Amino acid sequence: MNQKGIPEEELLAELSSFSNADTNFKKVFSSMCTIPHPIAVAAQQKFSLSNIGDPGLFRGTRKMEAEIIRMAASFLNHPDPRTAFGHLTSGGTESNIEAVLHMKNRFLALNSGIFSEKSQKSQERKTSANHSAGDFPHLNLIVPKTAHFSFEKIANLLDIRLKKADINSHFQVIPESAESLIDESTIGLIGIAGNTEFGACDPISALSDLALKYRLPLHVDAAFGGFIYPFLEQSRPAGGTKFSFDLPGVTSVSLDPHKTGFSVIPSGILIFRDESVVSASLEKIRVKTPYLTSKYQSTLSGTRAGSSVAATYAVIKHLGAEGYRQNVKYCMELADHFQSELRKIGLKPAVVPQINILALRVTPESSFKNEDDEKKAFQKVETLRLLLLEKFGWNVSATQNIPALRFVLMPHNTKQDITDMIADLKKLLDAENKE
Ligand code: PLP
Repeated sequence: MNQKGIPEEELLAELSSFSNADTNFKKVFSSMCTIPHPIAVAAQQKFSLSNIGDPGLFRGTRKMEAEIIRMAASFLNHPDPRTAFGHLTSGGTESNIEAVLHMKNRFLALNSGIFSEKSQKSQERKTSANHSAGDFPHLNLIVPKTAHFSFEKIANLLDIRLKKADINSHFQVIPESAESLIDESTIGLIGIAGNTEFGACDPISALSDLALKYRLPLHVDAAFGGFIYPFLEQSRPAGGTKFSFDLPGVTSVSLDPHKTGFSVIPSGILIFRDESVVSASLEKIRVKTPYLTSKYQSTLSGTRAGSSVAATYAVIKHLGAEGYRQNVKYCMELADHFQSELRKIGLKPAVVPQINILALRVTPESSFKNEDDEKKAFQKVETLRLLLLEKFGWNVSATQNIPALRFVLMPHNTKQDITDMIADLKKLLDAENKE
C-alpha cells in the first residue's frame, strides 16, 4: 500500500475514474437490480454508521427493521403480521442460505430419535443433542429445475443434495414431480415467485398443500417477485397470484428490496411465519455475544448494514403501495412494448411474460432434431449476446434452461431503449440469415 496518504482531491478524481468504468444502468437489460430511489440513498447516507448487528447501540435502526418485517408481512398477506419473525439480510443468496439452514436444523432436531435408532453411528452419538448431517448421509431439498444458482452454493455449504423437480412449458415447477422426489430424508421444499430466467411463479398453492401433507417447511424465494406480485394489476394474467403467507403451508418468504424494491444494495428481507417455525434451529445456531449489547446472535451475518435497513424503511414508507403499483405498471408496460416491437419483426417471447422478465428464442424449438441442434442454438444465443454488447453496447443475458436471450425490464429502461435494442438485434439476425 502507499506509505503516505493520498490527498482527498486526488483520490476523489481516482474514484471518479473507477465509477466511470461502472455501469450507469443505461443499455442494461441484464440486471435484476436498478437505480435506487433517491430517498433510499438519502437514508443510506444518514445511517452510514449504523450496525444492526449490535442492536442495543442502534435502537432506532432496530425499530425500523422490526417495522419493515411487519410491513412486508402485511403486503405478503400474513394473517397476523405482528407475529411474523425475520430480519434484513444482504440479499437473496443469504436469505436462501438461512432459510435452508433452519430447515436442516429443524429436520435434525425432529429426527434425532428416529435416526439414532437407525444407525450404529448415531447410536454412538445418542447422548449428544447436536446431531450432524453425517448421521444422515443423504439429506435433500426439493427445488424447481429453475432454482437460482444460490441453491447450488447452499447444497455445497450445508452438505445437502438438491433434488430438481421438472418444470412445465410455462417454466413452472410440476407439483407431481416435486411430490415424487420427497423421501424420508427431505428437509423441505422450495418454490419460486418470479424465477430468475423467466419470471414465472411456481404453483405455490399446490406446493403449500404438499408441505402440509408431508409436514415439511416450504420456503418461497420471492427475491425478485416479492415486490412485484403484490402490486400487479388484477387485470394482468398473473394479477392476484397467491405465493405467500395466505397459503398455510408457506413457512418462510424471502424478497429483495435491492431488486424490485428500489432500495440500495445490499438489502434482502427474510421472513418466517412466526418464531416457532425456527425456534429449535435458533437454539442450535445461537451464539453468546459477550462484546455486544445483545446477549445472543442467531443471524448468519454478524455486523449488518443499518444503512440498508434505513434505506429500505424509507423507500417503502415513501412509495407506499401506490408507488409500488405504479412501478410495476411501468415495468409491465415495458414488457407490452417489448412484445409489440418483437411482433413487428416476426418474433415472440418463449412464453407470454407474466412479469417483467422476458426470454426470447432465436432458433425455433421445432427445428431441433437432436442434441447437436440444441447445442448450436445455445452457441447462437451466446454469439448474439456478445455481438449486442460489442457492436451496440447492449447488456443482455442468456438463459440456461433453454437457448434464449433474456431481458429483465426494469425502471431504468425506457420504451425507446427497447425499440433501439430490437432494431439492433434485427440487424444481427438479418446479417446471420444472409450468411
Ligand atoms: N433468488 C432469485 C430468484 C434470484 O433471481 C436471485 C438473484 O438474481 C437470488 C435469489 C440471489 O439474490 P442475490 O444476488 O441478491 O444474493
